[in-house]
Amino acid sequence: MTNEPIPSKQAAPAPEYLKTFDVLKRTTLDYLLPNWQLVLTSLIASIIVAATTGALPVLLKYVFDDVLHDKNQVMLVMIASAAVGVSAFKGIASYGSNITKNLIGQRIISSIQGRMFSRIIKADLAWVSGTHSGRFLSSFSLDSARVRDAVTISIIDFVQNLLTVIALMGAVFWLNWKLALVASSVIPIGILYMRTLGKKTRKASRKGMEGAGDLSALISEALGGIRVVKAYGQEDREIARVNESIRHVLKQVMKGYRAKAAASPLTEALSGIGIAAVIYLGGISVIHGQLTSGELVAFISALMLAYQPMKTVANTQTIMQDGVAAATRLFPILDIEPDIIADADAKPLHVTDGAVRFDKVSFAYGDGTRALDNVSINIPKGHTVALVGPSGGGKSTTLNLVPRFYDPSEGSITIDGQDIRDVTLASLRQASSLVTQEAFLFDDTVRANIAYGRPDASDEDIIAAARNAAAHDFIMALPNGYETSVGEAGFRLSGGQRQRIAIARAMLKNAPILLLDEATSALDTTSEMQVQNALAALMEGRTTLVIAHRLSTIMHADRIYVIEAGRVIEEGTHDELIALGGLYAELSQTQFAGLEANDDDATSLAQAVVAGE
Ligand code: ADP
Repeated sequence: MTNEPIPSKQAAPAPEYLKTFDVLKRTTLDYLLPNWQLVLTSLIASIIVAATTGALPVLLKYVFDDVLHDKNQVMLVMIASAAVGVSAFKGIASYGSNITKNLIGQRIISSIQGRMFSRIIKADLAWVSGTHSGRFLSSFSLDSARVRDAVTISIIDFVQNLLTVIALMGAVFWLNWKLALVASSVIPIGILYMRTLGKKTRKASRKGMEGAGDLSALISEALGGIRVVKAYGQEDREIARVNESIRHVLKQVMKGYRAKAAASPLTEALSGIGIAAVIYLGGISVIHGQLTSGELVAFISALMLAYQPMKTVANTQTIMQDGVAAATRLFPILDIEPDIIADADAKPLHVTDGAVRFDKVSFAYGDGTRALDNVSINIPKGHTVALVGPSGGGKSTTLNLVPRFYDPSEGSITIDGQDIRDVTLASLRQASSLVTQEAFLFDDTVRANIAYGRPDASDEDIIAAARNAAAHDFIMALPNGYETSVGEAGFRLSGGQRQRIAIARAMLKNAPILLLDEATSALDTTSEMQVQNALAALMEGRTTLVIAHRLSTIMHADRIYVIEAGRVIEEGTHDELIALGGLYAELSQTQFAGLEANDDDATSLAQAVVAGE
C-alpha cells in the first residue's frame, strides 16, 4: 500500500514539435518494418520502373545514330521490339508498385486507428474527459491519413522516384558527363528553396489540422446539444460559429497549398534553365562533331524524364511536413499510458462483506481544483450511505474514487480492508455497479444493453434482472421484445424506461457494492415510483453509496454525510442531523417539506439547494 500522492494526469499538454527524422524513424520501425515483404516487393518493382525508365532515352540514341543516320533496318526492328518490351515491363512493375504501396498505406491506417482507439478507451478518465471527443475523431480520420501519406508518398514514392532519378542521371552521365554536370548544377538551388517551403507548409499544415480538430469538436458539440440549440433558437449562432471555423480552416489550408504550389514555378524555371543550357552547349558540341545528334536527343529526353521525378522528390518534403504535423498530434495519443494501473503482482479483490471505507481522503483534479479535503466515510456491509449537500460539493468525485476512475492524492480507500490500489482493476470494477443519472444505452438491442457487463448471461438471468428492475413488462410490449433495437426505439423509450434498463444491467452484474447517482431529472409519478421500486430492489442487500436527491432515499439511508466544499461537515442519521440543527436541518426545514409536496415534478434536493443559495 502506498500513501504517496499520485499525480493525476489531465489532457496532455501541447506536445513538442516532433523532428522529421524522429517521425521517419518511428514510421519506418512501426509501420514499414512489420510489412517488410510488401516493402521489398515495392522496392523491387520500383527498381524495375527506374531501370526501364532509364533505358527508354538510351534507345533513342540508337534510333538517331544507327537507324536514322546509318539506315540500319535490323536495328530498327530490334529497337522497336526493345521499346515494347521495356514499356511492358515498366507497366507491370508500376502496377505492382502501386498495389503494394496502397496496401501498405491501408495497413498503416488500420493499425493507427486500431491502436488509437484501444489507447483512448483504456486511458484514464481524467485524460479522456480532458480532451474533446471531436478532436479524437479528426485525428482518427485526418491525421492517420496524413501519416499514411507521409509513409507511402514521402518514403515509398520518394525511394521509387529517387531510384528513377538515379537511373536517368546514370544514363545522362553515361551519355555525356560534362553536359550532365551542367544540367545538375541547378539542383542545389532547388533543394535550398524546397527546404524553406517545407517549413512554411509545416506551419500552415499544423494550424490547418488544429483548425480541423476544433471544427469537428464544434460540430459534435452542436449536434450533441441540438435540443438546447433549438430550444433556445440559437441555430444561427451555431451556424456562424461553425462557418467561422470553416473559414479559418480554409485560410490555413490555402496557406499550405500556396506554399506547396510555390514549388512549381521555381522548379519549372530551374528545369527550363537546365534544359536550355544543355540544348545550347549540346548543340554547339554537335555542330563541332564532339557529340552525335542521337546522343544529344537521348540526353535531352533523359533529362526531361529526370526532372519530373526530381520535382516529385523535392515535393515530398512538403507532404512529409504534413505528416510530421499530423504525427505530432497523433503519436502522443498512441503513446498514452494510463496512470491508474495495478501492480503486476496485484491480487484480485476478495470481497467478503463489501464494506467500503474512505480514510482521510483528499483529491484534487489535474487542473488544481481541490475537490475533496480529508474525507472519511465508513459504509459497513449492506448499509446505505447517502451523500447530500450543495452542488459542486464533491459528491460525484467521492463516487468516482471507488472504482478508481481517479486516485486520491492523500488518504486511502479500502474494500473489506484491502486498499483498492493494491488489487487488480478488473476485480475492483467487478465489485461495484455504477448507476448514473443519465442512463446510457448503447445502440444495440435491449437484451445486449442489459447483458453489457455479462455478454454470456442466459436468457433466464436477463429476464430475471429485468423483472427485478420492473422493466420486463414494458420490454415485452416493445415490437421485438428483448430483441428490440434501442437505437430505433431510442426516442420512444421514456426516461424512466431507460433508467430501468440501466438498473437491470446493474442487477445482472450483481456486484456487492452499488454506486448510485440518483437522477435529478423529472419523471412522472408512475415512472418515478417504478424507478424507485427498481432501485430499492437493486439496493437490497448491497453496500450502497448514493448521491441522494430525494427525501425518501435520504430517510431510508443508514447514515447521511453532508458534503460541502469538499469536506464532510455533518454526519449522522436523519434524526441526529435534525437535532444537530446545522446545514442539514436547515435544508430539511426549508427544502425537504416542499420537496415532498412537489414530488410529482420530482424537484430534487440538489435543485432546491442550488435555488436556495
Ligand atoms: P457534486 O457532485 O457535489 O456536485 P463534484 O464532485 O461534481 O460535486 O465536484 C466537486 C468539485 O470538483 C467542483 O468544484 C467541480 O467544479 C470540480 N470538478 C468536478 N469534476 C471535475 C473535472 N473533471 N475536472 C476538474 N474539476 C472538476
